[in-house]
Amino acid sequence: MNGFDTFVMLDWSGGNDRGASPKADAIWGCVARAGTACEPVYLRNRQLAEAWIKDLLQAEMAAGRRVLAGFDFPFGYPDGFCETVTGRSDPLALWDWLEARIEDGPKANNRFDIAAGLNRLFDGIGPFWGNGLKRDIADLPRKGLARHGDHPAEKRMAEDQAKGAFTLWQLSGAGSVGSQSLMGLPVLSRLRREFAGAVSVWPFQPLDTPIAFVEIWPSLSVGAAPDGWIKDAWQVSEVARHLSGLEPGQLTALLDVDPNAEGWILGLGREHLLRDAPLPPPLSNDCFALPAGVEWTPVEDALALLKERLQAVTGVENIRVRDALGRVVAGDVMAVRANPPLPNTAVDGYGFSGGRSKGVHVLPLETDRAAAGLRLSGAVPQGAAIRVLTGAALPDGVDTVVLQEDVSVAHGQIAFHGPVKAGANTRKAGEDVEAGQVILVAGRRVTSADLALLAATGVAELSVRLPLRVAVISTGDELVEAGDAALEGQIFDANRPMLLAMIERFGHMPVDMGRVVDDRAALAAKLDDAAGCADVILTSGGASAGDEDHVSALLREAGAMALWRIAIKPGRPLALGMWQGTPVFGLPGNPVAANVCTLVFARPAMAQLAGAGWSDPQGFMVPAGFEKRKKAGRREYLRARVRDGLVEVFASEGSGRISGLSWAEGLVELPDGALDVGRGDLVRYIPFGGFE
Ligand code: AMP
Ligand code: MG
Repeated sequence: MNGFDTFVMLDWSGGNDRGASPKADAIWGCVARAGTACEPVYLRNRQLAEAWIKDLLQAEMAAGRRVLAGFDFPFGYPDGFCETVTGRSDPLALWDWLEARIEDGPKANNRFDIAAGLNRLFDGIGPFWGNGLKRDIADLPRKGLARHGDHPAEKRMAEDQAKGAFTLWQLSGAGSVGSQSLMGLPVLSRLRREFAGAVSVWPFQPLDTPIAFVEIWPSLSVGAAPDGWIKDAWQVSEVARHLSGLEPGQLTALLDVDPNAEGWILGLGREHLLRDAPLPPPLSNDCFALPAGVEWTPVEDALALLKERLQAVTGVENIRVRDALGRVVAGDVMAVRANPPLPNTAVDGYGFSGGRSKGVHVLPLETDRAAAGLRLSGAVPQGAAIRVLTGAALPDGVDTVVLQEDVSVAHGQIAFHGPVKAGANTRKAGEDVEAGQVILVAGRRVTSADLALLAATGVAELSVRLPLRVAVISTGDELVEAGDAALEGQIFDANRPMLLAMIERFGHMPVDMGRVVDDRAALAAKLDDAAGCADVILTSGGASAGDEDHVSALLREAGAMALWRIAIKPGRPLALGMWQGTPVFGLPGNPVAANVCTLVFARPAMAQLAGAGWSDPQGFMVPAGFEKRKKAGRREYLRARVRDGLVEVFASEGSGRISGLSWAEGLVELPDGALDVGRGDLVRYIPFGGFE
């Protein structure tokens, strides 16, 4: 069971709190799925890091996702150490031993004193050395050469093999890793307790739980960070991205090492697997950038940009066919078996070999009969007939069937009139589907009919995309929850229930993030939460360029926003941006505009992100039951429905008219240019169902 959905990598630190602004040599975490890494997260101290990873594991478990969590410090010590300290050979006993003794806070911890205490358990002085404090500590020498006596090996087998790896006994000095283990293992021990039974530790235990902990060492495979990147942030994001982009077989090969009590570094000895993996490019922060100097973007151009720049961000899992309805197929599915598997009869009747000419034919009848479900073993002699029932595999010696209604039976014989064509009333093996034929292509959303096709062709399991999680946030000081008491001047949040329902209809997983007031800090915190638990974020309101339009302001501040002034009505500018690696669609606040922009832009974009590929809405031309004069410049969408073969539109085009949305069953799409629509002229009507 090596299929993991989510990969989280942590670059650990043994030191104290590193302050508010992102720095090197602090703790950095990064989440990746299916070859795409999120923005690395700066964690200024271990307390924050522990809370962050705990929240993440909880959320992933709740979403049913398997997590591979990597930490860049050794999970075990050189042979014999654990036994001397704990009296047990189980390396996890040492984790718990340390957890019971290490005291940790943002400003100080007792790791050097604990190390000195550990040294006392051994002959002479050793094995730990290095003291980052001013005060001297008895039994903890500042220099490694000061040690003497009988203590475990300097390095584990892993460090012997990994060029440039430090010994675990060194607790201070550039590049030393000893303090990271002392300060990291207690955290892992607590997480194991917290998620009891759900965590397995590699390579000590089989990885048959929802969460696996592995030891990593980014320097093994990650090259120098590009300009502008903090090395640690770059390393965790690269390791996460690489591991999450591996084929399941490659990951299995990486994880396949002999269990040993010292622990091992993931990928050590198999570095090529980490370096050579082909990867999809991540969504870049400028993926919504518009060509310079563009004033108004036509709808077609906006859609083409989205299509080109977005790609699947969801992971992959294997599921049983019976659970696959509505899921997106991750890779082409092939028929395991032909349909039908054997030649069979399409009717109830009598079978024999070869066609028969015009005139009366009398054939001796076999006593056996061929019914569906069982293949007769004997052959039917040439010139004889046998009773066959619909769906029965044709016995040897039978290739033609005559309908029972056309036959009389008496005295062990049948009689019928020719002509009968050779092969009549039979189905050839594989005439529907051949074994090995592709029956569903990657990106297909599984329908109920597909379930029949999968079942018939012997497919029991298939690999599908994880559902796309779409967070929905409403913004505005004026909003109150529908059903609550509203003061004068307040309005009920109408967009959220609508958007959540639309997402569900599109086949994604809606994540209700609630409302947020027009306040930048509150909105930033909300976006942080949403980016942590969703693959894409939809906001409504505040997307324009006014004083209270904080969505666009914030995304612009994050340096990853484009305000798309799209030539569409209804719909003011659409704010598109990236928040911590997660795409954000800033929809207009007006419910009608929010609805139309979701159908026209967010729907195909979300399908692309979900791995279902791009799809254009399916409309058709219908005679207009209305008249309208339209100016050039903007594409227009009118709320519409078809009655008696004519398409009618809602009386008002006001974008606050929610009743018109509810009245409508689809949209009339009028092209960008000027147009005079007269009664009976053909216009393009897209039923709401055509947007799915
Ligand atoms: P905004 O884009 O924030 O300026 O909002 C435009 C209009 O849409 C204003 O009249 C808002 O009150 C209204 N509006 C914004 N969000 C919602 C919502 N969630 N439900 C209903 N109306 C909204
Ligand atoms: Mg607003």
